Amino acid sequence: MKLSEIFYSIQGESTFAGLPCIFIRFSGCNLSCSYCDTKYAYEQNFELSVEKILDKIKKYSPVKLVEITGGEPLLQKEIYSLFEKLHSKNYQILLETNGAIFVNKIPKYVKKIMDIKTPTSKMSDKMKWENLNFLTENDEIKFVLSDKNDFDWAIKKIRKYDLQKYKILFSPNKSKLNEKSLAEWILKTKMPIRLQMQLHKIIWKNKKGV
Ligand code: SF4
Repeated sequence: MKLSEIFYSIQGESTFAGLPCIFIRFSGCNLSCSYCDTKYAYEQNFELSVEKILDKIKKYSPVKLVEITGGEPLLQKEIYSLFEKLHSKNYQILLETNGAIFVNKIPKYVKKIMDIKTPTSKMSDKMKWENLNFLTENDEIKFVLSDKNDFDWAIKKIRKYDLQKYKILFSPNKSKLNEKSLAEWILKTKMPIRLQMQLHKIIWKNKKGV
């Protein structure tokens, strides 16, 4: 499998934020979002088999929370085999995926954290909206927002597709939007939207591998 990095850190996003977590970051992406903060993952750093990945993460035992991320992990052919093996070893699996690849074959035991690309990403036309049919109420939907137009667009999509039944995460693109504005806009909606602050960036700034 084509990898960018494997590391152990504090989960900075999702409803699992704050927990110790193992990160497996795959290389390669089918999108090129304007605000991408993991461009280094476009290129492969090293290659490992599924078995070798499992061997490598053993050293973080007894931590059993694993995030599969990228890049876009669903571009890896062996990803389903990795899900199975991790599940058989009792890992709890979080999958970050960009919403532009079908998620219909992902097993239910994998918690999907699926992006919906906002207008400023310049990738919103690549979204596979059919993916909403394959989410469970256990899954999470993430919007990265750069301005008020992105915010209003996201609220319209939440209403149109009845997304309030999922856990909704709103993350500010920090170079364009401050958290305070986003927090105030969220409060005005009175909707169950979680403001996501990317804890790892608050703690370690833009350091890689944390
Ligand atoms: S989907 Fe993720 S990794 Fe790919 S370009 Fe967009 S932000 Fe970067």
